[in-house]
Amino acid sequence: MKYAIISDIHANLEALTAVMDRCRKEGVEKYVCLGDIVGYNANPRDCLKIVRTIDLVGVVKGNHDEYVSSMDEEMLGFNQHAKQAVLWTKNQLNTEERSWLSKLPMKQTVRGTNITIVHATLDSPASWGYIFDVHHAMDNFSYQFTPLCFCGHSHVPIGFCKKSFTGSNSLLVEEVQEWKAERTEANADKEDLDPVIPIQKGWKYLINIGSVGQPRNKDPRASFAIYDTEANTVTRLRIEYDVATAQKKIREAGLPDRLATRLERGN
Ligand code: ZN
Repeated sequence: MKYAIISDIHANLEALTAVMDRCRKEGVEKYVCLGDIVGYNANPRDCLKIVRTIDLVGVVKGNHDEYVSSMDEEMLGFNQHAKQAVLWTKNQLNTEERSWLSKLPMKQTVRGTNITIVHATLDSPASWGYIFDVHHAMDNFSYQFTPLCFCGHSHVPIGFCKKSFTGSNSLLVEEVQEWKAERTEANADKEDLDPVIPIQKGWKYLINIGSVGQPRNKDPRASFAIYDTEANTVTRLRIEYDVATAQKKIREAGLPDRLATRLERGN
């Protein structure tokens, strides 16, 4: 079975459509969504519609989903651009759509799988913290009771593994370096293989899969992952999409220009 794990779509219809096309080609059967379906980009309703029609076996709430569907006007931690986009998005959605978003769980164990999902962190999902290093990962692992946990929120792919119980090494958490596969000037024209994490028995994995609709790892391509339960691998795919159209729509909607320019830089 192939599961596609998608996160931080952020109302980017062009990116989401490109990802869906690729999923069909890859033979994906089920989908898992890690939240932030809306916010920042110009197509919240279309993206919601797609997410709600695919075979979704798990979905959790992101902070943007929370703010567009609640009375929270403070939006702690949000800059002016993010706030502006939330208020714009609120007006685009109807009551039923906002209510659907407001009822999403903060974390979830996906039924029939070995996967837990959360937008931010398992130890404190409603605080919207970020996982950037082994210390954050360690906190998360204490609350992770399945071999696999997928998260989003930072829009920056990062992966950690925790070795199986081996006496004194039982607390050892390591970053999976290959997962980042950062694009630099030196490797930009080299063959670009998709990063893969082979899932080993007895180990735990915490994997941020990057963002579909607003990547921030200096690689503007849409990022998502496929978990193949037969091959026992998690693979991260990077997809080119029509950035120019997504930018045009942001500007036409009157959303902050920075939200358009950042898409081509992936920052
Ligand atoms: Zn996000």
